[in-house]
Amino acid sequence: MIDTVAIEVQKVAQSRISELDENNIPFARIYSDHMFVADYYDGAWQDLRIIPYQSLPMSPANMAIHYGVSIFEGMKAHKSEDGEVILFRPERNAQRLNISAERMCIPEIPEDLFMQALTDLVGLDSQWVPSKPNTSLYIRPVVFATDEYIGIKAPERFRFMIITCPVGAYYSAPVKVKIETSFVRAVEGGTGYAKTAGNYAASLYPAKLAKEQGFDQLVWTDGKTHEYIEESGTMNVMFIIDNVLITAPTSGTILNGITRDSVLTLAKEWGVTVDERPVRVAEIVEAARQNRIQEAFGVGTAATIAQISAIGFEDEVFELSEVANRKFSHKVLQTLDEIKTGKVEDKFGWTLKV
Ligand SMILES: *Cc1c(COP(=O)(O)O)cnc(C)c1O
Repeated sequence: MIDTVAIEVQKVAQSRISELDENNIPFARIYSDHMFVADYYDGAWQDLRIIPYQSLPMSPANMAIHYGVSIFEGMKAHKSEDGEVILFRPERNAQRLNISAERMCIPEIPEDLFMQALTDLVGLDSQWVPSKPNTSLYIRPVVFATDEYIGIKAPERFRFMIITCPVGAYYSAPVKVKIETSFVRAVEGGTGYAKTAGNYAASLYPAKLAKEQGFDQLVWTDGKTHEYIEESGTMNVMFIIDNVLITAPTSGTILNGITRDSVLTLAKEWGVTVDERPVRVAEIVEAARQNRIQEAFGVGTAATIAQISAIGFEDEVFELSEVANRKFSHKVLQTLDEIKTGKVEDKFGWTLKV
């Protein structure tokens, strides 16, 4: 671990902030003025710098583009009514990045380096954190191999970057999901628990087929039997049936979502019965058929809560309960929003002011 993290800063000559219309933010199209960059070579993270956002020169033999040695994180900064910039549980992202790193033979990023880079960058670009309701600054840390080598071996050179972009509301409408029973996202012993590039690349084709069938998202099932619900590929999934909040336990095949943990913590605090256990597809389909699913929603940083309005399984589509009547998920969304924007007391110590 390094004691003091020295980051060199090279500022833009002219900010591009005037290109941003806070009332009409295109999702992930306009990036903030600056980016953080560090390189790993000779066995250490070095050359820590914040520079103007820019394209990267790259070797055609770069190992990451050939073999997908790449991991990332996703988090958000919000602006309080007083104009303070607030991060939500950022140390969790630092820790999870290192869980992904280990699986992909990427060297650990010291947590103090991660936190310093993050807070320096977001502090410098604080005017890019939008303040309108439902808007935020999306933060994307990414680490990838930079070896100029197309042999298959554990890489030795890496780059760690953080880029940011202002975003509006991610899902405006509730989503229609399909329970996927042919394709697989993750298997035991694979990389499902890591935020690594290949997981997302492999999900695009099944997602495209589902879209052609009129669905917005997939709900993945376990790779062996397709009998158990896992998650939704960028969100964990929760159901309320007979007043019990049900969600699959995290495992080697399910990403350990920070939103998931936050929602479960609030649920327990409010006295809601939480059942973290394997969720059978059959019980969900049966409950849907009997109109017993009170709430169904995805949880993740991008949307916080994405209401599920309908579930497709084999040849059937089940329309779920009226989204407007779902008390728990609305309360959770509002409470998390109030914590993230500093409107209510943060009794869990989840927020960090930049
Ligand atoms: C990032 C991600 C999630 C949600 O995690 P959060 O920390 O809540 O944003 C869920 N599933 C997958 C596969 C993900 O990549």
